[in-house]
Parts: sequence; C-alpha cells; structure tokens
Amino acid sequence: MKHLLQGIHKFQRIAFAPQKRLFTRLANKQSPAALFITCADSRVVPNLITQTQPGELFAVRNVGNIVPPYDLHHGESSAIEYALNNFDIKDVIVCGHSNCGAMQGLLAPESALDKLPATKAWLQHAKLTREIVQTNYAGLTPQEMLEVAIQENVLVQLEHLREHPSVKSGLAARRFNLHGWVYDIESGDVLIYDPTLGKFQSTTKQSSGRTRSNNTRSTLRSQKTSRKRKA
Ligand SMILES: [Zn+2]
Repeated sequence: MKHLLQGIHKFQRIAFAPQKRLFTRLANKQSPAALFITCADSRVVPNLITQTQPGELFAVRNVGNIVPPYDLHHGESSAIEYALNNFDIKDVIVCGHSNCGAMQGLLAPESALDKLPATKAWLQHAKLTREIVQTNYAGLTPQEMLEVAIQENVLVQLEHLREHPSVKSGLAARRFNLHGWVYDIESGDVLIYDPTLGKFQSTTKQSSGRTRSNNTRSTLRSQKTSRKRKA
C-alpha cells in the first residue's frame, strides 16, 4: 500500500500539475472516441499502448477480454450500451494479449479450474473459442495453441459484440468500426486483424517496413489464424 500512496503523491506532483488544464477540462465532461475492451491483466495498459490521454478511451476490462451475450444484469452490457449511446465513439476495439492466463485456463482440462468456480463459469462465454481451436488447430504445440486461442477469442468476442443492440444499430448506421487486436507484451507489437486477408497483421512491420527477428512468432500466428471472418 505504501508503494501506491507514494505513487499518488508522485502523480499529483509530476503528472497532474503539468496537465492541470486537461484535468480541468475533463472534470465535468468526457468525450472518448474509442471503446476499448480488454483483459484485466496487469500487464495490459491501454493508454500506454495507444499513447492516449485520460478521457480518450472508454475501457471495459474483465478476465479474458470477453463480451458476454447482451444481458440486463451484465456489467459489460451496461458499459457497452452506455458508451455507444452517450459518446461519439468511432472505434470499438477488442484487445487480447500474449500469454493470457484466461486463455490458458480455457485450454486446460476442465478440472484445472475447479478451485475457481466463478472463472470456470465466466469462461463459458469463450467456449466457442475452445471448440474452434480444438477443431481447427490440432497438432500444434501448447504454446502455439495458446497463441491461436488468444487470436480466435478476439474474433469470437467480436461476434458476440455484434449481437448487442447498441452495436447492431450503430453498425447499421455506420457510426463506428469494430477492430480486433492482440497486444504482444514481450515485443510491444500490436497485431491487428485484417478482415480482407483473414489474419492478424503486425503493426511493427507495417510501420517500420522491415521484418524484425522478434516478429517470428507474430508471423506464425498470422499464418495460423487464417480463417476469414468479418471484423
Ligand atoms: Zn488476459
């Protein structure tokens, strides 16, 4: 706790004070242009990855960046509905990440989650991901299996998202676009799903125009997850 309290003082001194005007502007109003749905994992920091300021991303976080079916009693349904009806959201992103513990749990034998009954029940919203991986990617190593599960889960959750009423109506009116991302913690790369190519593409390669050696795994994943889907 001491570490966190020291952090608050440091924030007030180093981050808040120089940006006083920003926080004064944000005090009574937010106008985020992106709805960012990602995992609760401590290593995923949306504003850091996208280099955005407070007020720019409306974030929804849970274990496994899951979008459960529309339900009046789900926090996710409320957050999605709230963001899309109150703000001029232009982009909705579902962002998975490398070495996701939720996806590891999803691929593990069911008994592995017996001590985490709430997590086991929650991951039922990703059971289609498990079925897709087991059906289409048999023969991969466990690490490769995890990597494709992370990508496939982003696509599955985008499909769930399309069924939410506020998303359906917004897409019909062309108010915003949906995007599937995977953040690679080790390399800092963000893979973005290209619905035309039917695979995730490295942003590092696109922006730098050259292939880095640590993109090998990204390339592997791009090749593995090649079934075409809408996004
Ligand atoms: Zn995760």
